Amino acid sequence: MPQVIDHGGGVWSVQVPIPDNPLGHTLVHVVDTDRGPVLVDTGWDDPAAWTALTEGLAAVGTAVADLRGVVITHHHPDHHGLSGRVREESGAWLAMHPADTAIVRRTRGSRPARWFDFLIDTLTRAGAPDAHTAPLYAARAAGRTGGLPGLDPALPDREIVPGELLPLTGRRLRAIWTPGHTPGHVCLHLEEAHPAGLPGRGRLFSGDHLLPGISPHIGLYEDPDDADDGDTDPLGDYTASLELIARLAPAEVLPAHQHAFTGADARVRELLSHHEDRLRGLLSLLSVPLTPWQAAERMEWNRPWAAIPHASRTIAVSEAEAHLRRLVKLGRAEVLPGLPVRYVAV
Ligand SMILES: [Zn+2]
Ligand SMILES: [Zn+2]
Repeated sequence: MPQVIDHGGGVWSVQVPIPDNPLGHTLVHVVDTDRGPVLVDTGWDDPAAWTALTEGLAAVGTAVADLRGVVITHHHPDHHGLSGRVREESGAWLAMHPADTAIVRRTRGSRPARWFDFLIDTLTRAGAPDAHTAPLYAARAAGRTGGLPGLDPALPDREIVPGELLPLTGRRLRAIWTPGHTPGHVCLHLEEAHPAGLPGRGRLFSGDHLLPGISPHIGLYEDPDDADDGDTDPLGDYTASLELIARLAPAEVLPAHQHAFTGADARVRELLSHHEDRLRGLLSLLSVPLTPWQAAERMEWNRPWAAIPHASRTIAVSEAEAHLRRLVKLGRAEVLPGLPVRYVAV
């Protein structure tokens, strides 16, 4: 049975499974318009996910062929994976923020070896030991692509313009640019009275930006072709984007994972204080110079460092470095000359 929730006012969510992933599923939202339904995100590119999506649409009383458009919150494969197939079978337009479309374009133009070079270089600069980079060198040499992001994501054909309404007949859906989780992440604000009369301003499709029980991954932006000069500040972007959502004060949040919830402001405060705690803890470690790898080893995670598997360590180091960058931007830490990169409190 497809897992579908009717959120009222011509909005539904369809649970689309993510294979072998603790997140479980993506909530693909269906928004009815006067000219046919539009999706917010599509789900992972996988046969079981496609079946769940098509059965979910049937349960809502529509079909893939009827879709008018697809709005993508961000380029990650659990949101954008099925977009190409949806467009093929429906002729729907595909809209994304240009900063994430740029990543899609680079991904499509890159050979797997380019991604491994980028990953190995980033990790080496961050102080990763040879034991961590060795499997990546081996995978590169063997021409493997396992563990890399989808290498052929669909190229969007429309641009999401921050602050503007999407071209949906009979609906008011405004794009809110919320960089941090990715540089081009957007939330979509449905500027219509809540169907159950809940207090607040409309409803917010929040993608991965604001989730009820998970703190989304905030790491360095993946940018294999532009030399990263250390100037981007993803955590600073993210906290500013959280404040933006709190000011919107939506009556209800419809996120892309877990479940719908109310109290956006309280959830924003929780996430802000979570990152403040993390910055404070990290700063206390920086009485001695540390590479991002050493910082990650000493930070608190959901399990001991020794129990964290290889791929998750790569993600953890990226998250540690986003926090280190934030401390530098705040004037609390500085980068020492030389490689690997070392940070120390000032
Ligand atoms: Zn994501
Ligand atoms: Zn996601």
